[in-house]
Amino acid sequence: MKKIFFIEPYVYTQIEENNFVLYNTLTGKFLFKKNEEELLFIKKNFQKQHILLEDEINNKTSNFIKYLQRKFFAQTRESVNLEHYQHSPSVVTAFEESDYHKKSLSDFISDLTFYINGECFQSCELCKSAYKQFSFCTKLDKTELKFIEIEDVLSSFSPKYLQNINILGGNILYHSEFDNIVNFLNKYSSKKNYYINYKNLSVDNISKLLLIDVKSTVVILFSTIPSVSEFSEINSSLSQISIPLKWVFVIQNTNDIKTLENLKLGGGDYEVYPYINPANQNFIRKNVFLTKKDILSVPKLSYKQILEKNNFNLLLWGKTYILNNKDFYANLNSEKLGKVFSENVSNIIFEIVNEQKDVWHLTRKQVDPCNKCVYRIFCPPISNYELFSNRYNFCNMK
Ligand code: SF4
Ligand code: SF4
Repeated sequence: MKKIFFIEPYVYTQIEENNFVLYNTLTGKFLFKKNEEELLFIKKNFQKQHILLEDEINNKTSNFIKYLQRKFFAQTRESVNLEHYQHSPSVVTAFEESDYHKKSLSDFISDLTFYINGECFQSCELCKSAYKQFSFCTKLDKTELKFIEIEDVLSSFSPKYLQNINILGGNILYHSEFDNIVNFLNKYSSKKNYYINYKNLSVDNISKLLLIDVKSTVVILFSTIPSVSEFSEINSSLSQISIPLKWVFVIQNTNDIKTLENLKLGGGDYEVYPYINPANQNFIRKNVFLTKKDILSVPKLSYKQILEKNNFNLLLWGKTYILNNKDFYANLNSEKLGKVFSENVSNIIFEIVNEQKDVWHLTRKQVDPCNKCVYRIFCPPISNYELFSNRYNFCNMK
């Protein structure tokens, strides 16, 4: 009776032109090509649902096979009833429209961002593009999204699944119905995040923030890093606010990092976003690009997580944007999906989910050069930075 050799069903295999990776989803151990013979052996045999007859094993490959067995990547059996052989799982993503009640489609949305206005009297250099890289204010146009329109759109979403409602502008405090919007959102159980640029805070308008409920967060955006005295002034002007505050700092060069360190933020609630501009490529390469060590330090992945990573963009999935002119986007770096009204929300979401044309399904398998790279299961999902730059290898690997 012939011996049969097979890769364990819990081992994820990916074979590319010049390398391969075997990933043991139980132990988190991975294996890349050590020599050309291993690659040849894997390429020749691993297309056959991971099964290899023993008479194909020669001396050259036997050490490699023993190693795979010792490390629990594979095993041999005297006889195998192939009916009982458990193949690795796969995933099916599309569904028929009739399978789902359209009403429940809005349940796919976890984050809904409203740009409620474009009014702002500041003139920041990054205004036209920072909002495409991370959540940031922008003066898109002067239109105001009316309170009644926000109320109407929100009526089609289930608060049960809607985790975050984000409110951005312009200067949101200039919205003519700001009080109504806040009072309405205070009734929502979702987490609300109100974004305000520190330049737009003044003694006259800061009291408007007192309307916001304590389940919300006020996110203070810093388009430039403030000096120590400026920061302490802002801090004390906000001391009357009991709602949680979060600081967001934008950095563009090494000087920004030094100025930020002077603020001694300690363990406070803050985030730092590098901003890509045409002149700071070296800074981004040094501070943002992933090294091999970063990539391979990813926590252990289950088989399910790998399949999800290969089929969905888990960073961008479920996030939607409504601009002040009612344009609806699944991502601000892609085409608009239409004008939003409560009646058409489900249709738009159905298109995104089922036609798989948008960034929710954009994975490294689909983009160059990641589609030929054995490290892609370890890399984070494609981000807004990559979409904005139209470059997908924010790494030092290729
Ligand atoms: S404060 Fe915000 S909206 Fe106003 S100019 Fe600066 S980036 Fe643009
Ligand atoms: S090329 Fe793409 S998949 Fe490969 S390491 Fe870089 S980012 Fe990751």
